[in-house]
Amino acid sequence: MTLSRLVNPSVLSQPVYEPGKPIEDVARELGLDPAGIIKLASNENPLGPSPLGVAAAMKALSQSELYPDGGCVVLRQKLADRHSLAPAQFVIGNGSNELLELLGHVFLRPGDEVVMGTPAFIVYKLVTLLFGARAVEVPLVNHRHDLNALAAAITPRTKLVFLPSPNNPTGTANSAEEISTFVRGLPEHVVFVFDEAYAEFLDNPPDLRPLIAEGRKVIGLRTFSKIYGLASLRVGYGYASEELAGLLNRVRQPFNVNAIGQAAAAAALDDAEFVMRTRTVNAAGLCQLKAGFDSLGLPWVPSEANFMLLKVGDGARWFTGLQKRGMIVRPMKPYGMPEWLRVTVGTETQNARLLACLKELAGEDRV
Ligand SMILES: *Cc1c(COP(=O)(O)O)cnc(C)c1O
Repeated sequence: MTLSRLVNPSVLSQPVYEPGKPIEDVARELGLDPAGIIKLASNENPLGPSPLGVAAAMKALSQSELYPDGGCVVLRQKLADRHSLAPAQFVIGNGSNELLELLGHVFLRPGDEVVMGTPAFIVYKLVTLLFGARAVEVPLVNHRHDLNALAAAITPRTKLVFLPSPNNPTGTANSAEEISTFVRGLPEHVVFVFDEAYAEFLDNPPDLRPLIAEGRKVIGLRTFSKIYGLASLRVGYGYASEELAGLLNRVRQPFNVNAIGQAAAAAALDDAEFVMRTRTVNAAGLCQLKAGFDSLGLPWVPSEANFMLLKVGDGARWFTGLQKRGMIVRPMKPYGMPEWLRVTVGTETQNARLLACLKELAGEDRV
């Protein structure tokens, strides 16, 4: 008997996630110096990690012989204070990606449906399919989630609705009013998953807490990977009612978040200066990129996050051209947008180099 006949069929049909290419891989493939390569592919923080986070991580590293605090007590208390919620309303994950999977463990069975926009964060679909549920994909309108269309896609079989705002890969956001109206209109049998990976980049992020207080079935997901610059340490969190947070805590592994990540995340929460600097650099970078794309005649999607979509035509060719020049960006073919690239907003210098490389490629296109 072949091994594949023994395997859960959802595993065999599971699509493969294509992450941004690591700098080391590109350096090896193209014979480039890794130090000269700029990665603008995964919406990482171009300023590096939060310095307070790094200092705390170093300290935690020296006690690596000990198991981490499985309950993430310190981090949950800090988050509770920050958001004026109770510690029991939080669940900490190995990145918010793990929380997406935990939601699958808690809620999804074969035959269930999950409503999501497309293009949106691909992990929603991967998790849905992994649990044998059906992904109901609702096309974005003008690169933005159409909440009426999402509502119309809900059936008696719908268990979860995923909404990222700002959305990845488009960078577009839905307003706080739109979102609360949508949530208040959801039927009783649906759980609303609000992915706020980029919420800290918004001037007025929607507030889920009144909806939680009303007893709505909602969970907010946030991450230390983006604005806090701690992507490699894998820490994200969910906040919801105590009941919902408790369900996710029940299905996670006892030590799902390592101690270095926990310490770094707790310290980074206090790094207001770093967060502010990141926001400032990002806002300036968005302006710089928009102006640059305009002068190259490349269409772009208005973004409220730390990345932008731009339309280049032959996305694969431009991706390769940029890579040869030591710039890693994200081709959008896996998202069904082969004419587009997604670029992370970098520092002023990095953005300038990206624009210079794009200019060269645009020149090649004209010959
Ligand atoms: C980056 C990102 C995440 C965060 O993932 P982590 O696992 O916390 O690193 C979640 N959702 C979206 C939409 C993202 O772009």
